Amino acid sequence: MCAAIAGYRGRSVLVLEHTKKIGRKILMSGGGRCNFTNIHNSPANFISANPHFCKSALSRYSAQDFIELVERHGIEFHEKTLGQLFCNESSKEILDMLLTECDWAGVELKTETSVNAIKATDAGYQLSTGHGELEAESVVIATGGLSIPNGGATSFAYDIAQQFDLNILSRSAALVPFTLQPKEKDALKELSGVSHKVRASIGNTSFVESMLFTHRGLSGPAILQISSYWQPGAEVEIDLFPDMDLLAWLKEQREARPKAEISSVMAQQMSKRMAQILCQLFGLSGTMADQSNKALENISGAFHHWKVKPSGTEGYRTAEVTLGGIDTNEIDQKTMAAKKALGLYFIGECLDVTGHLGGHNFQWAWASGVAAGQVV
Ligand SMILES: Cc1cc2nc3c(=O)[nH]c(=O)nc-3n(C[C@H](O)[C@H](O)[C@H](O)COP(=O)(O)OP(=O)(O)OC[C@H]3O[C@@H](n4cnc5c(N)ncnc54)[C@H](O)[C@@H]3O)c2cc1C
Repeated sequence: MCAAIAGYRGRSVLVLEHTKKIGRKILMSGGGRCNFTNIHNSPANFISANPHFCKSALSRYSAQDFIELVERHGIEFHEKTLGQLFCNESSKEILDMLLTECDWAGVELKTETSVNAIKATDAGYQLSTGHGELEAESVVIATGGLSIPNGGATSFAYDIAQQFDLNILSRSAALVPFTLQPKEKDALKELSGVSHKVRASIGNTSFVESMLFTHRGLSGPAILQISSYWQPGAEVEIDLFPDMDLLAWLKEQREARPKAEISSVMAQQMSKRMAQILCQLFGLSGTMADQSNKALENISGAFHHWKVKPSGTEGYRTAEVTLGGIDTNEIDQKTMAAKKALGLYFIGECLDVTGHLGGHNFQWAWASGVAAGQVV
Protein backbone atom coordinates (compact mmCIF):
# COMPACT_ATOMS: atom_id res chain seq x y z
CA MET A 1 0.00 0.00 0.00
CA CYS A 2 2.73 2.41 1.02
CA ALA A 3 4.95 1.44 -1.91
CA ALA A 4 2.18 1.94 -4.47
CA ILE A 5 1.16 5.35 -3.11
CA ALA A 6 4.80 6.51 -3.06
CA GLY A 7 5.37 5.05 -6.53
CA TYR A 8 2.38 6.95 -7.97
CA ARG A 9 4.02 10.14 -6.62
CA GLY A 10 6.98 9.42 -8.85
CA ARG A 11 9.25 8.11 -6.10
CA SER A 12 11.64 5.34 -6.96
CA VAL A 13 10.50 2.52 -4.66
CA LEU A 14 12.04 -0.84 -3.84
CA VAL A 15 10.21 -3.32 -1.57
CA LEU A 16 12.40 -5.84 0.20
CA GLU A 17 10.86 -9.04 1.57
CA HIS A 18 12.95 -11.69 3.25
CA THR A 19 10.73 -14.69 2.53
CA LYS A 20 9.90 -16.17 -0.86
CA LYS A 21 6.43 -14.66 -0.85
CA ILE A 22 5.15 -11.16 -0.32
CA GLY A 23 1.95 -10.72 1.70
CA ARG A 24 1.80 -14.13 3.34
CA LYS A 25 -0.46 -12.91 6.16
CA ILE A 26 -2.91 -11.55 3.61
CA LEU A 27 -3.07 -15.02 2.07
CA MET A 28 -3.63 -16.79 5.40
CA SER A 29 -6.08 -14.20 6.72
CA GLY A 30 -9.80 -14.59 7.20
CA GLY A 31 -9.65 -18.36 6.68
CA GLY A 32 -8.30 -17.78 3.15
CA ARG A 33 -10.86 -15.08 2.28
CA CYS A 34 -9.12 -12.04 3.87
CA ASN A 35 -11.27 -9.96 6.15
CA PHE A 36 -9.77 -6.89 4.50
CA THR A 37 -11.62 -4.15 6.37
CA ASN A 38 -14.63 -3.38 8.53
CA ILE A 39 -17.35 -0.92 7.55
CA HIS A 40 -17.67 0.18 11.20
CA ASN A 41 -13.94 0.84 11.58
CA SER A 42 -13.15 3.70 13.94
CA PRO A 43 -10.38 4.65 16.40
CA ALA A 44 -12.49 2.91 19.10
CA ASN A 45 -11.51 -0.41 17.51
CA PHE A 46 -7.86 -0.01 18.49
CA ILE A 47 -5.84 -0.57 21.63
CA SER A 48 -2.89 1.79 22.10
CA ALA A 49 -1.22 3.65 24.95
CA ASN A 50 -2.21 6.76 22.96
CA PRO A 51 -5.71 6.14 21.60
CA HIS A 52 -5.59 9.41 19.62
CA PHE A 53 -2.55 8.44 17.55
CA CYS A 54 -4.41 6.36 14.95
CA LYS A 55 -7.12 8.96 14.30
CA SER A 56 -5.38 11.05 11.67
CA ALA A 57 -4.32 8.19 9.38
CA LEU A 58 -7.66 6.36 9.75
CA SER A 59 -9.67 9.46 8.90
CA ARG A 60 -7.57 10.21 5.85
CA TYR A 61 -7.80 6.64 4.51
CA SER A 62 -11.04 5.03 5.59
CA ALA A 63 -12.61 1.62 5.14
CA GLN A 64 -14.67 3.18 2.31
CA ASP A 65 -11.48 4.21 0.50
CA PHE A 66 -10.21 0.63 0.61
CA ILE A 67 -13.61 -0.70 -0.47
CA GLU A 68 -13.48 1.60 -3.51
CA LEU A 69 -10.04 0.21 -4.39
CA VAL A 70 -11.36 -3.36 -4.07
CA GLU A 71 -14.36 -2.48 -6.25
CA ARG A 72 -12.16 -0.82 -8.90
CA HIS A 73 -10.32 -4.13 -9.18
CA GLY A 74 -13.58 -6.00 -9.64
CA ILE A 75 -13.13 -8.09 -6.50
CA GLU A 76 -16.40 -9.45 -5.18
CA PHE A 77 -16.93 -9.38 -1.45
CA HIS A 78 -19.58 -9.76 1.22
CA GLU A 79 -20.26 -8.71 4.79
CA LYS A 80 -20.00 -11.78 6.99
CA THR A 81 -21.04 -10.32 10.32
CA LEU A 82 -20.56 -7.13 12.37
CA GLY A 83 -19.34 -5.10 9.38
CA GLN A 84 -16.55 -7.55 8.51
CA LEU A 85 -15.87 -7.62 4.76
CA PHE A 86 -14.46 -10.78 3.18
CA CYS A 87 -13.58 -11.72 -0.42
CA ASN A 88 -16.14 -14.02 -2.00
CA GLU A 89 -13.38 -16.05 -3.61
CA SER A 90 -9.92 -15.80 -2.10
CA SER A 91 -7.43 -13.66 -0.16
CA LYS A 92 -5.17 -13.93 -3.16
CA GLU A 93 -7.35 -11.36 -4.92
CA ILE A 94 -6.38 -8.72 -2.34
CA LEU A 95 -2.69 -9.57 -2.65
CA ASP A 96 -2.91 -9.55 -6.46
CA MET A 97 -4.66 -6.19 -6.29
CA LEU A 98 -1.84 -4.68 -4.23
CA LEU A 99 0.82 -6.21 -6.47
CA THR A 100 -1.00 -4.83 -9.53
CA GLU A 101 -1.10 -1.38 -7.93
CA CYS A 102 2.63 -1.66 -7.22
CA ASP A 103 3.24 -2.71 -10.81
CA TRP A 104 1.22 0.24 -12.19
CA ALA A 105 3.10 2.58 -9.84
CA GLY A 106 6.48 1.31 -11.08
CA VAL A 107 7.48 -0.28 -7.77
CA GLU A 108 10.29 -2.82 -7.82
CA LEU A 109 9.90 -5.88 -5.56
CA LYS A 110 12.66 -8.15 -4.32
CA THR A 111 11.86 -11.30 -2.40
CA GLU A 112 14.27 -13.57 -0.52
CA THR A 113 16.23 -10.47 0.43
CA SER A 114 16.74 -9.90 4.10
CA VAL A 115 17.90 -6.60 5.48
CA ASN A 116 20.62 -7.29 7.96
CA ALA A 117 21.46 -3.75 9.05
CA ILE A 118 20.47 -0.13 8.46
CA LYS A 119 22.90 2.73 8.92
CA ALA A 120 22.15 6.46 8.76
CA THR A 121 24.33 8.33 6.28
CA ASP A 122 24.54 11.99 5.18
CA ALA A 123 22.32 11.19 2.17
CA GLY A 124 19.81 8.98 3.99
CA TYR A 125 20.33 5.33 4.81
CA GLN A 126 22.61 2.50 3.84
CA LEU A 127 21.09 -0.98 3.99
CA SER A 128 23.10 -4.18 4.18
CA THR A 129 21.01 -6.87 2.53
CA GLY A 130 21.57 -10.52 1.75
CA HIS A 131 22.28 -9.32 -1.79
CA GLY A 132 24.64 -6.45 -1.11
CA GLU A 133 24.53 -2.82 -0.07
CA LEU A 134 21.77 -0.34 -0.99
CA GLU A 135 21.38 3.41 -0.57
CA ALA A 136 18.02 5.08 0.06
CA GLU A 137 16.87 8.58 0.91
CA SER A 138 14.24 7.15 3.21
CA VAL A 139 13.27 3.80 4.63
CA VAL A 140 9.82 2.55 5.66
CA ILE A 141 9.79 -0.36 8.09
CA ALA A 142 6.69 -2.48 7.51
CA THR A 143 7.89 -5.78 8.92
CA GLY A 144 4.93 -6.38 11.21
CA GLY A 145 4.83 -7.96 14.67
CA LEU A 146 5.98 -11.21 16.22
CA SER A 147 3.02 -13.47 15.54
CA ILE A 148 3.41 -16.59 13.37
CA PRO A 149 7.21 -16.80 13.53
CA ASN A 150 7.28 -19.72 11.11
CA GLY A 151 5.48 -17.53 8.55
CA GLY A 152 8.31 -14.98 8.39
CA ALA A 153 7.70 -12.73 11.41
CA THR A 154 10.83 -11.21 12.91
CA SER A 155 11.66 -8.64 15.57
CA PHE A 156 13.29 -6.50 12.88
CA ALA A 157 11.09 -3.40 13.35
CA TYR A 158 11.72 -3.37 17.09
CA ASP A 159 15.46 -3.95 16.61
CA ILE A 160 15.69 -0.98 14.23
CA ALA A 161 13.53 1.16 16.53
CA GLN A 162 15.89 0.31 19.38
CA GLN A 163 18.93 1.09 17.24
CA PHE A 164 17.52 4.59 16.63
CA ASP A 165 16.73 5.01 20.31
CA LEU A 166 12.92 4.83 19.99
CA ASN A 167 11.01 3.63 23.02
CA ILE A 168 9.29 0.25 22.69
CA LEU A 169 6.30 -0.67 24.84
CA SER A 170 5.96 -4.21 26.15
CA ARG A 171 4.59 -6.67 23.64
CA SER A 172 2.44 -9.76 23.97
CA ALA A 173 0.48 -12.15 21.82
CA ALA A 174 -3.07 -10.90 21.18
CA LEU A 175 -6.15 -12.14 19.33
CA VAL A 176 -5.01 -15.49 20.62
CA PRO A 177 -6.71 -18.57 22.15
CA PHE A 178 -6.51 -19.20 25.89
CA THR A 179 -5.11 -22.35 27.42
CA LEU A 180 -6.85 -23.65 30.56
CA GLN A 181 -5.69 -24.95 33.93
CA PRO A 182 -5.54 -28.79 34.03
CA LYS A 183 -8.83 -29.21 35.97
CA GLU A 184 -10.91 -27.21 33.51
CA LYS A 185 -8.99 -28.45 30.51
CA ASP A 186 -9.71 -32.07 31.45
CA ALA A 187 -13.34 -31.37 32.30
CA LEU A 188 -13.98 -29.57 29.02
CA LYS A 189 -11.85 -31.52 26.57
CA GLU A 190 -14.80 -33.54 25.31
CA LEU A 191 -16.42 -30.31 24.15
CA SER A 192 -13.56 -29.58 21.75
CA GLY A 193 -15.07 -28.21 18.52
CA VAL A 194 -18.31 -27.00 20.16
CA SER A 195 -19.19 -23.35 19.65
CA HIS A 196 -21.55 -21.26 21.82
CA LYS A 197 -22.53 -17.58 21.86
CA VAL A 198 -21.16 -15.82 24.96
CA ARG A 199 -20.26 -12.45 26.41
CA ALA A 200 -16.56 -12.52 27.40
CA SER A 201 -15.57 -9.72 29.77
CA ILE A 202 -12.59 -8.30 31.60
CA GLY A 203 -13.47 -5.27 33.71
CA ASN A 204 -15.65 -2.96 31.63
CA THR A 205 -14.62 -4.44 28.30
CA SER A 206 -16.76 -7.15 26.82
CA PHE A 207 -17.46 -8.84 23.51
CA VAL A 208 -20.60 -10.76 22.56
CA GLU A 209 -19.62 -13.28 19.90
CA SER A 210 -19.15 -17.01 19.71
CA MET A 211 -16.72 -18.99 21.83
CA LEU A 212 -15.13 -22.24 20.72
CA PHE A 213 -14.00 -25.01 23.04
CA THR A 214 -10.65 -26.44 21.89
CA HIS A 215 -8.57 -29.38 23.07
CA ARG A 216 -6.23 -26.90 24.81
CA GLY A 217 -8.75 -24.39 26.09
CA LEU A 218 -10.96 -21.66 24.65
CA SER A 219 -10.98 -19.86 21.33
CA GLY A 220 -13.47 -18.31 18.90
CA PRO A 221 -14.08 -14.60 18.20
CA ALA A 222 -15.25 -13.59 21.71
CA ILE A 223 -12.17 -15.17 23.29
CA LEU A 224 -9.72 -13.81 20.71
CA GLN A 225 -11.14 -10.31 21.24
CA ILE A 226 -10.94 -10.39 25.03
CA SER A 227 -7.42 -11.94 24.91
CA SER A 228 -6.12 -8.52 23.79
CA TYR A 229 -7.18 -7.15 27.21
CA TRP A 230 -5.90 -10.06 29.30
CA GLN A 231 -2.91 -9.98 31.64
CA PRO A 232 -1.39 -13.21 33.00
CA GLY A 233 -3.13 -14.24 36.21
CA ALA A 234 -6.34 -12.31 35.43
CA GLU A 235 -9.81 -13.83 35.32
CA VAL A 236 -12.13 -13.69 32.34
CA GLU A 237 -15.85 -13.67 33.00
CA ILE A 238 -17.94 -15.63 30.55
CA ASP A 239 -21.69 -15.19 30.32
CA LEU A 240 -22.98 -18.31 28.60
CA PHE A 241 -26.42 -16.71 28.15
CA PRO A 242 -25.82 -13.11 27.06
CA ASP A 243 -29.29 -12.78 25.52
CA MET A 244 -31.51 -14.24 28.22
CA ASP A 245 -32.51 -13.99 31.87
CA LEU A 246 -31.62 -17.52 32.91
CA LEU A 247 -33.01 -17.14 36.44
CA ALA A 248 -36.52 -16.25 35.22
CA TRP A 249 -36.43 -19.16 32.79
CA LEU A 250 -35.20 -21.58 35.49
CA LYS A 251 -38.09 -20.55 37.77
CA GLU A 252 -40.54 -21.36 34.97
CA GLN A 253 -38.84 -24.71 34.44
CA ARG A 254 -39.11 -25.54 38.14
CA GLU A 255 -42.88 -25.17 37.79
CA ALA A 256 -43.08 -26.98 34.47
CA ARG A 257 -40.62 -29.84 35.08
CA PRO A 258 -40.12 -30.29 38.84
CA LYS A 259 -38.82 -33.87 38.52
CA ALA A 260 -36.24 -33.08 35.83
CA GLU A 261 -32.51 -33.00 36.65
CA ILE A 262 -30.84 -29.59 36.31
CA SER A 263 -28.62 -30.88 33.50
CA SER A 264 -31.65 -32.14 31.52
CA VAL A 265 -33.31 -28.75 31.87
CA MET A 266 -30.12 -26.98 30.77
CA ALA A 267 -29.95 -29.36 27.80
CA GLN A 268 -32.87 -27.42 26.32
CA GLN A 269 -30.49 -24.48 25.90
CA MET A 270 -27.36 -26.34 24.73
CA SER A 271 -26.33 -29.85 23.70
CA LYS A 272 -27.00 -32.59 26.24
CA ARG A 273 -23.29 -33.35 26.63
CA MET A 274 -22.40 -29.68 27.10
CA ALA A 275 -25.11 -29.29 29.75
CA GLN A 276 -23.85 -32.41 31.59
CA ILE A 277 -20.21 -31.36 31.49
CA LEU A 278 -20.86 -27.76 32.57
CA CYS A 279 -23.22 -28.81 35.39
CA GLN A 280 -20.54 -31.20 36.62
CA LEU A 281 -17.84 -28.51 36.38
CA PHE A 282 -20.03 -26.01 38.24
CA GLY A 283 -21.00 -28.65 40.86
CA LEU A 284 -24.73 -28.50 40.04
CA SER A 285 -26.95 -31.53 40.65
CA GLY A 286 -30.40 -32.55 41.82
CA THR A 287 -33.90 -32.13 40.45
CA MET A 288 -35.54 -28.79 39.78
CA ALA A 289 -37.97 -29.30 42.69
CA ASP A 290 -34.96 -29.54 45.04
CA GLN A 291 -33.82 -26.01 44.13
CA SER A 292 -34.72 -23.12 46.42
CA ASN A 293 -34.84 -19.62 44.93
CA LYS A 294 -31.34 -19.09 46.29
CA ALA A 295 -30.13 -22.30 44.64
CA LEU A 296 -31.63 -21.19 41.32
CA GLU A 297 -29.79 -17.88 41.68
CA ASN A 298 -26.58 -19.84 42.14
CA ILE A 299 -27.25 -21.92 39.03
CA SER A 300 -28.06 -18.81 37.02
CA GLY A 301 -24.94 -17.11 38.40
CA ALA A 302 -22.74 -20.05 37.45
CA PHE A 303 -23.80 -19.82 33.79
CA HIS A 304 -24.04 -16.02 33.56
CA HIS A 305 -20.79 -15.33 35.47
CA TRP A 306 -18.46 -18.23 34.76
CA LYS A 307 -15.04 -17.05 35.98
CA VAL A 308 -12.19 -18.59 34.07
CA LYS A 309 -8.55 -18.09 34.98
CA PRO A 310 -6.60 -19.11 31.87
CA SER A 311 -3.23 -20.74 32.44
CA GLY A 312 -1.93 -18.69 29.52
CA THR A 313 -2.38 -18.15 25.81
CA GLU A 314 -1.23 -20.17 22.83
CA GLY A 315 1.36 -17.40 22.28
CA TYR A 316 2.83 -16.00 19.08
CA ARG A 317 2.60 -19.41 17.40
CA THR A 318 -1.11 -18.86 16.73
CA ALA A 319 -1.74 -15.21 17.71
CA GLU A 320 -3.19 -13.01 14.96
CA VAL A 321 -1.38 -9.91 16.20
CA THR A 322 1.17 -8.46 18.59
CA LEU A 323 -0.16 -6.14 21.27
CA GLY A 324 2.09 -3.18 22.12
CA GLY A 325 5.17 -2.29 20.11
CA ILE A 326 6.89 0.90 19.07
CA ASP A 327 5.73 3.77 21.28
CA THR A 328 3.57 6.07 19.14
CA ASN A 329 4.98 9.08 21.00
CA GLU A 330 8.11 8.48 18.93
CA ILE A 331 6.17 8.71 15.64
CA ASP A 332 4.52 11.59 13.79
CA GLN A 333 0.81 10.69 13.60
CA LYS A 334 0.33 12.32 10.19
CA THR A 335 3.30 10.80 8.37
CA MET A 336 4.44 7.78 10.45
CA ALA A 337 7.94 9.30 10.47
CA ALA A 338 10.19 8.61 13.44
CA LYS A 339 10.63 11.93 15.19
CA LYS A 340 14.23 11.15 16.10
CA ALA A 341 15.44 9.88 12.71
CA LEU A 342 14.85 11.91 9.56
CA GLY A 343 13.63 9.74 6.68
CA LEU A 344 12.82 6.68 8.80
CA TYR A 345 9.17 5.55 8.94
CA PHE A 346 7.29 2.77 10.74
CA ILE A 347 3.86 1.53 9.63
CA GLY A 348 1.43 -1.30 10.35
CA GLU A 349 1.49 -3.76 13.19
CA CYS A 350 4.98 -2.96 14.53
CA LEU A 351 3.53 0.22 16.08
CA ASP A 352 1.64 0.22 19.37
CA VAL A 353 -1.71 0.20 17.54
CA THR A 354 -3.61 -3.08 17.83
CA GLY A 355 -6.97 -3.57 16.20
CA HIS A 356 -9.91 -5.62 17.34
CA LEU A 357 -10.73 -8.75 15.38
CA GLY A 358 -12.77 -8.14 12.24
CA GLY A 359 -10.65 -6.40 9.58
CA HIS A 360 -9.38 -3.54 11.74
CA ASN A 361 -5.75 -4.64 11.71
CA PHE A 362 -5.63 -4.62 7.94
CA GLN A 363 -7.39 -1.25 7.88
CA TRP A 364 -4.61 0.09 10.11
CA ALA A 365 -1.97 -1.45 7.84
CA TRP A 366 -3.59 0.21 4.76
CA ALA A 367 -4.19 3.58 6.42
CA SER A 368 -0.76 3.91 8.03
CA GLY A 369 0.80 2.74 4.75
CA VAL A 370 -1.02 5.45 2.81
CA ALA A 371 -0.05 8.10 5.39
CA ALA A 372 3.65 7.27 4.93
CA GLY A 373 3.33 6.69 1.19
CA GLN A 374 2.07 10.26 0.70
CA VAL A 375 5.22 11.81 2.16
CA VAL A 376 8.09 9.34 2.03
C1 LIG B 1 -3.61 -16.20 10.77
C2 LIG B 1 -3.86 -14.70 10.72
C3 LIG B 1 -5.06 -14.25 10.21
C4 LIG B 1 -5.31 -12.87 10.19
N1 LIG B 1 -6.49 -12.45 9.66
C5 LIG B 1 -6.75 -11.12 9.61
C6 LIG B 1 -7.93 -10.65 8.99
O1 LIG B 1 -8.73 -11.43 8.43
N2 LIG B 1 -8.19 -9.31 9.03
C7 LIG B 1 -7.29 -8.41 9.58
O2 LIG B 1 -7.56 -7.20 9.58
N3 LIG B 1 -6.14 -8.84 10.12
C8 LIG B 1 -5.84 -10.16 10.14
N4 LIG B 1 -4.67 -10.57 10.67
C9 LIG B 1 -3.69 -9.57 11.14
C10 LIG B 1 -2.97 -8.96 9.93
O3 LIG B 1 -2.52 -10.01 9.10
C11 LIG B 1 -1.78 -8.11 10.36
O4 LIG B 1 -2.15 -7.19 11.35
C12 LIG B 1 -1.22 -7.37 9.16
O5 LIG B 1 -0.79 -8.29 8.18
C13 LIG B 1 -0.05 -6.47 9.56
O6 LIG B 1 0.49 -5.91 8.42
P1 LIG B 1 2.00 -5.43 8.38
O7 LIG B 1 2.24 -4.96 6.98
O8 LIG B 1 2.29 -4.52 9.49
O9 LIG B 1 2.88 -6.74 8.65
P2 LIG B 1 2.86 -8.19 7.95
O10 LIG B 1 1.66 -8.42 7.15
O11 LIG B 1 3.22 -9.14 9.03
O12 LIG B 1 4.06 -8.10 6.92
C14 LIG B 1 5.40 -8.00 7.33
C15 LIG B 1 6.29 -8.54 6.22
O13 LIG B 1 7.64 -8.23 6.52
C16 LIG B 1 8.44 -9.37 6.25
N5 LIG B 1 9.65 -9.27 7.08
C17 LIG B 1 9.78 -9.49 8.41
N6 LIG B 1 11.04 -9.26 8.80
C18 LIG B 1 11.74 -8.88 7.69
C19 LIG B 1 13.10 -8.52 7.46
N7 LIG B 1 14.00 -8.47 8.43
N8 LIG B 1 13.47 -8.20 6.19
C20 LIG B 1 12.57 -8.21 5.17
N9 LIG B 1 11.27 -8.56 5.35
C21 LIG B 1 10.86 -8.89 6.59
C22 LIG B 1 7.55 -10.54 6.61
O14 LIG B 1 7.97 -11.73 5.98
C23 LIG B 1 6.19 -10.05 6.09
O15 LIG B 1 6.01 -10.37 4.73
C24 LIG B 1 -4.36 -11.95 10.68
C25 LIG B 1 -3.14 -12.42 11.17
C26 LIG B 1 -2.89 -13.79 11.18
C27 LIG B 1 -1.56 -14.25 11.70
